[in-house]
Order: sequence, then C-alpha cells, then structure tokens
Amino acid sequence: MSHIALLPSSGMGHLTPFLRLAALLTVHNIKITIITPYPTFSLAESQVLFHFFSTFPQIRQEKLHLLPLDNFSGNSEEDPFYCHIEVIRRSSHLLSSLLSSLSPPLAALITDMSLTASVVPITKALNIPNYIFFTSSAQMLTLFISFHTKANANSYEMDALQIPTLEPIPKSWIPPPLLQDSNNLLKTYITENGKEMTKSDGILVNTLESIEEESLAALNGGKVILGLPSVTAIGLLPPCFNKCQSLAWLDTQPIGSVLYVSFGSRTAMSREQLKELGDGLMRSGYRFLWVVKDKKVDREDDKDLEDVIGNELTESVKERGLVVKHWLNQENILSHPAVGGFLSHCGWNSLTEAMWLGVRVLAWPQHGDQKINASLVERIGLGIWESSWGWGGKDIVKGQQIAEKVSELMGNELLRMKAVSVREKARAGMELGGTREDEGIG
Ligand code: UDP
Ligand code: UDP
Repeated sequence: MSHIALLPSSGMGHLTPFLRLAALLTVHNIKITIITPYPTFSLAESQVLFHFFSTFPQIRQEKLHLLPLDNFSGNSEEDPFYCHIEVIRRSSHLLSSLLSSLSPPLAALITDMSLTASVVPITKALNIPNYIFFTSSAQMLTLFISFHTKANANSYEMDALQIPTLEPIPKSWIPPPLLQDSNNLLKTYITENGKEMTKSDGILVNTLESIEEESLAALNGGKVILGLPSVTAIGLLPPCFNKCQSLAWLDTQPIGSVLYVSFGSRTAMSREQLKELGDGLMRSGYRFLWVVKDKKVDREDDKDLEDVIGNELTESVKERGLVVKHWLNQENILSHPAVGGFLSHCGWNSLTEAMWLGVRVLAWPQHGDQKINASLVERIGLGIWESSWGWGGKDIVKGQQIAEKVSELMGNELLRMKAVSVREKARAGMELGGTREDEGIG
C-alpha cells in the first residue's frame, strides 16, 4: 500500500481543502498521514481536526510541534494568519526527521503552497517527491508564480499584470500588500514560494478545466514561467462530513428565499461597515442568514452580537433574518433548500462550495486573492460582482448600494438557473474518482 503524507499550513481556507483531498485519497487504498502544525492558530481548525480524525480513524495524524518563537511576534500591521505561517516556516526544519521516521516510507508529500520554499529543499534531500497543493484559483496561481519576475521597480507603476495569452489582471485586483514599496509577509511569501514552485514535482489546484481552461493552458504551456512542473486541475473537492447541524430557522423558510451572508473564517468587518450591511439587508426586503464577524481570530472573539452591531440593529434584523456570531457549517447552509443566494467574500473554498452546490453568488471581495476569484464569478455565470466596491476596510459601501445588489441577485431567476448549470458542469468535471454521495463523503 502506498503511503502519502499531506502538510497543510495555517487557517481554515488552507486546512479544509487538504482534509477533503485526504478523505478522497482514502477510497483509493492509499495510506494517508496528515501532518498538522501544532498548536493550530484558530479554534475552528482545532475543532475540525478533532472531528475529522474521529470520522476517518484510518487516517493518521502526526503533529509538527511548532517552535515557541517568542522573538517573533510579527509586525502588528500584519495579518495574524500570515504570522502563524511564518512560525510554521521557521519550524519546518523539524520536518526532516518526522518525514524520514514515517512508515512505510513515503511515496510522496503534498505540501501547502505557502510552505513551498521551506519544504521542497527538505524533500529533495530525502528523495521524496513533493507535490504542491495550491488552495486558490488557477488564475491566482498565474499571479503567484509570475510575481517574482515582475517585482522590480517598474512593477509598482504597472497598470495590469500581463501574462501572454491571458487577459491582463488589472492592478486594482492585485492584493494591496504586493504593491507596497516596503516588505511584508505576503510579498515575501509570494516571491519566495512562487520561485520555488518550479522545483516541485507537480502542482495540484482544486479547480476545473471547464472553468479555468485559459489559465491552466497558459500555466502548462510555459506562458507564465518556463520550467514549471505539470499543473493538474483536480476538480472541486466535495465536502467530507455528513450533515451534522440542526438549522431550525432555515427549515421554516420558503425554498430559495434566503440570502446567506458570510465573509469566511478570517475576515473581520469594521463596525461602521457592519451597520451599513445590516441596513442594506433590511432595505433589500429579502430574508437572510447573516454570520457577523468582527475579529480575524476566533480565539479573540469575546463580544456578544448586541455589542458588535448594537441593540437597535439586532432587534430590527430579527424581523426578516437570522443573525449569528458563531461558526456555522457553511456546506450545510449552502446545501439547504431554503438558501437561494450567497453574499460572499470570495475565498476560494467558499466559491468552490457555491459551485458544487449551485448557489448564485453576490461577490464582495475583501482582501488577498478575493478580487481575482471574484472576477471568475461573473465569467463562469455563478453570479454578479460590483467591481467598483473597494477592498474591505478602505471605503465604506452604503446600505442602499448593498440593498440594490442583493435585489439584483435574488430577483434574477436567470442567475439562479445559471448557478445550477455551473453545478452540473462542476460535478461532470470531477477528475478524481471514488464514492461520492450527494452531500459528500464520510
Ligand atoms: N466556513 C464555515 N463556516 C463559517 C465560515 C467559514 O464552514 O462560519 C468554512 C467555509 O465553508 C470554507 C472555509 O471555512 O470551507 C473558509 O475558506 P474560504 O477559502 O472560503 O475563506 P477564508 O476563510 O480562508 O477567507
Ligand atoms: N488540536 C490541534 N491544535 C490545537 C488544539 C487541538 O491540532 O491547537 C487538535 C488535537 O491534535 C486533537 C484535537 O484537536 O486532535 C483535540 O485537541 P485537545 O487539545 O482537546 O486534545 P489533545 O489531543 O491535543 O490532548
């Protein structure tokens, strides 16, 4: 039996696709070990790991015990998740003995993209093939891989990132830290990991040929960078847990009537923007299920809903919606018949879940890769994106503007049908085999 190990990095957006891939690989009679950096950063990661290893006892967990890097607190301006990736990176030399102790010897390691530069030299020395799992869109991969070739003095003045055969990526879609003169963690990661990708044995992306054909052809045709190993679209990874949460309020709502509003696991909104969002949802006249988040890191979240959005808004939103401030299983919500739309920050996992479940999306990207992902929403017919809205935390989008876009999404039957056809395409395009029930495996 072959033995493959997987090494995710920090944050639910990286962990979730790794767990889904591991679950899929088990049905191929492969022994799987997941190396989990320990301790995890968010509570959500620690809880999902516990649930995952109870559901899949045949998958082994090995902990990569992170060094207590007291001297690394990061810059307070930096995203705490990038700081945690930095801690994992600085502990990665400990992997060498861990990897060589695994039995039977590894046939391959699958590594998160953010650890490419630190882990590829280790696996080369141990002679273990190393495949990089890129947990965002193939279009984002084109930026990730080519950024270091453009990151010279002129790049900050460019209007768009130009890659032969592809539509230019406008400057306004590029994550702002990449355009700063000063160094920052995101810029260093993308530069260093992007360079090392050519030394890996292959790159896996959880996307579909049918939705990102051009980007994949450019990557594999040497248009983005020469010497890249093959880039494989492994399809959208289905959920790996069965339904487990009771959603009593949703059960009482009419089919397709509810807009689900969530900005993922690590995006906090300012109080002012939350107020406008609440106002916009009320003005739209549609029903909604809104997950409020005002702290990036869940372990630091100690406020009640009323403290965050105020008593008045808490009371008025009750008329038409359910507003919560705790983790809900998004796959359960998106697969619920009452849900007819998704106001999303366009994290790649959220978008792949919306594609997998055929839910139309109103894209409101906030940071990082999200504008690049949002551009696909319209292109593939999954929904709409008001690209004039700025990055999160920069300009405040007013309630009236939000209400108009919500009505445009929820009132458009054609968009609903188009999203259903994206779902059909997504399921037809699955390239990894295995037992697959409608709601996932496991
Ligand atoms: N998620 C969830 N419940 C929440 C928030 C997020 O289940 O309240 C899941 C979501 O389904 C997705 C992941 O967490 O699988 C978030 O990843 P994504 O790439 O969408 O965004 P990120 O959180 O990394 O910004
Ligand atoms: N866990 C983790 N990171 C954390 C906390 C927990 O990976 O920061 C995992 C842990 O490996 C175990 C599960 O979550 O599988 C439950 O953790 P807990 O701390 O309750 O117990 P442990 O098994 O670590 O003693």
